[in-house]
Amino acid sequence: MTKKIAVLPGDGIGPEITEQCVRVLQSLRPSGLALEFETAAVGGAGFDQAKDPLPQATVDLCESADAILFGAVGGPQYDNLPRPMRPEQGLLRLRKHFDLFANLRPATVFPELAHASTLKPEFVAGLDLLILRELTSDIYFGQPRGIHQNPQGLREGFDTMRYNEAEISRIAHVGFQTAMKRQRRLCSVDKANVLETTQLWREVMIEIARDYPDVELSHMYVDNAAMQLVRRPKQFDVIVTGNMFGDILSDEASMLTGSIGMLPSASLNDKKFGLYEPIHGSAPDIAGRGLANPLAIILSAAMMLRYSLDLAGFADQLEAAVRKVLAQSYRTADIEEPGCKLVGTSSMADAVINALREGS
Ligand code: NAD
Repeated sequence: MTKKIAVLPGDGIGPEITEQCVRVLQSLRPSGLALEFETAAVGGAGFDQAKDPLPQATVDLCESADAILFGAVGGPQYDNLPRPMRPEQGLLRLRKHFDLFANLRPATVFPELAHASTLKPEFVAGLDLLILRELTSDIYFGQPRGIHQNPQGLREGFDTMRYNEAEISRIAHVGFQTAMKRQRRLCSVDKANVLETTQLWREVMIEIARDYPDVELSHMYVDNAAMQLVRRPKQFDVIVTGNMFGDILSDEASMLTGSIGMLPSASLNDKKFGLYEPIHGSAPDIAGRGLANPLAIILSAAMMLRYSLDLAGFADQLEAAVRKVLAQSYRTADIEEPGCKLVGTSSMADAVINALREGS
């Protein structure tokens, strides 16, 4: 059955990398991958087209699709718009509209790129960890919050960390199910020794673990997790954590890899509908020059095939093709090294298509 993909290229390098990613996916058609693509504007492009970073036509397209492939949004020309018109509102509103509560961010270090990390290559070569961050609750959304004057006349800021058991349970299920597709090890990160909210988090994780006897559940305090990620990152398979801890740890983990142009992400709801995007931004400094690395969005498309479309075989093929082009020394400028074959955005996509044709 043909699956429909809503393609939202966005701004800056977004359109360049998205176009190449679609070409790569289309090259799999003869092998039986039946996808149809429809494009709509988001971010600054949405504002230019309809004075709205998320035009209604874009929401309608996404509603009718099986998954969303998202480029990147933002650019200096939009920086002074009023907040509701800013490009990133397009992304935030999509997350809210589709209740995309589960954010999956793999941090994979291809052996060929291990030298790009600031850590010693032997600590990161072959790293393959996934951080699962809850995206719609926690201290970022809890009420009450604000800045007021306290009885002593001092200004006081306050926020509320809050999770209910339903919110914890649904992210726990995604965590266990994700671990089942990998090495079956799930590390839940909390601060249960100090924060009641995360004490409940830990209790619910332990309850849900009974449904997944094949997954080994462990617990780690967030301060230790931050340390272990740089000390011995390869000990982890899947990390599941709340919104704020996940925000910090996922950025820390992405930097283990040293190459922002290589990292994919997915945001899913409880129907496995998802938005797939590279973690990098719109890179206005290189936009329109054919220099951007398309591998992060290609790897995001592989996640789309695996997590929303249940086409793990094609996801494996795509990931193997990326590994092959790296082994063949193809590099875009952001991951350039002496002796490599330096290519631009479309030639990198050509190399991936060739690798897919040859079978990787
Ligand atoms: P950025 O990720 O766009 O760029 C940071 C650096 O990495 C730049 O030097 C850029 O050239 C390089 N880079 C990023 N992606 C690359 C790729 N695929 N290939 C090669 N090099 C790449 O971050 P920034 O400069 O802080 O932000 C630029 C704009 O993007 C801002 O408007 C910001 O708000 C927006 N942004 C959007 C998203 C998103 O759409 N999800 C995420 C982050 C930033």
